[in-house]
Amino acid sequence: MADRRKFVKLSFLTSAALFAGKKVFAATPNLDPGPFPDIKDQPIVISTWDFGKAANAEAWKTLEKGGRALDAVEAGVKIPEADPTNQSVGLGGRPDRDGRVTLDACIMDENSKCGSVACMEHIVHAISVARLVMEKTPHVMLVGDGALQFALEQGFKKENLLTPKSENEWKDWLKTNKYKPVKNIENMLPGGEHNHDTIGMVAMDSKGQMSGACTTSGMAYKMHGRVGDSPIIGAGLYVDNEIGAATSTGVGEEVIRIVGSHLVVELMRQGHSPEDACKAAVMRIVARNPDAAKDLQVGFLALNKKGEYGAYALQKGFSYSVKSGTTEEVFHSKYYYQ
Ligand code: ASP
Repeated sequence: MADRRKFVKLSFLTSAALFAGKKVFAATPNLDPGPFPDIKDQPIVISTWDFGKAANAEAWKTLEKGGRALDAVEAGVKIPEADPTNQSVGLGGRPDRDGRVTLDACIMDENSKCGSVACMEHIVHAISVARLVMEKTPHVMLVGDGALQFALEQGFKKENLLTPKSENEWKDWLKTNKYKPVKNIENMLPGGEHNHDTIGMVAMDSKGQMSGACTTSGMAYKMHGRVGDSPIIGAGLYVDNEIGAATSTGVGEEVIRIVGSHLVVELMRQGHSPEDACKAAVMRIVARNPDAAKDLQVGFLALNKKGEYGAYALQKGFSYSVKSGTTEEVFHSKYYYQ
């Protein structure tokens, strides 16, 4: 016991020395942190892209009533999931190269509980299935047929997610594109349009509790069975109720390689602002492989416990939406490749 106490004291002193001069958040259990003394904005919800605005508005209905961030983010991301005109999330999502719409989603709450589904077909609200994986199973992640089977057992309706628009575009894509994996997975759509987008949403409620959700149909025309960052806890989403939360969008393979959202949260733990933490994660991708990174898009978005938020992307064009009691805006993220 004495040894253990000595070890704990030593680790504390080491960390204190390591971060001397920097603002440091201690990693101590804190189940009900309440509002931070210097809180900027609370409750607050932020999400990726401009279509996050409508999702935030839905999440806000829960937050403004004093509801839980977890309920808010689930309700929020269900908006783009159910929107057939949004071709990167849920119903109407672009299919894989076999013409199958496969969804990836995950959710994480203020107690670090989490649930996820990957490569799941036929269910519009992948995020709600992910939540039930978290709440009703001993597992974190279900994939493919297992995820579908679980969803059906839970009463979800089996639907065709491939809309005529997405089907026609896929058929056009088949005419001109080689049916094989390509190394550079950016700009595969005619006209150079991005072939992906995800809604990642993080929120802090009026009690200071944070949660996040992330849901996508993933990269268009991916190989069947491909799973991106979005359903992977730590990659597409991470929430640490002591520190903050982060989410990502863009080429999932790059985000997985650096465990991006977890990295952003850990950088915030070390005292970085949300924007600086997102930038440092982007720079990690650049440093790993500058030749590839210049042709890819990845964006990170983060919120800390003070209600401060920020984003950073590899390329121009990443936007994010913010809603709080004082703000309702879509911002353009700063980016690395000018
Ligand atoms: N990150 C998603 C994926 O790789 C797609 C996206 O956000 O653009 O599947």
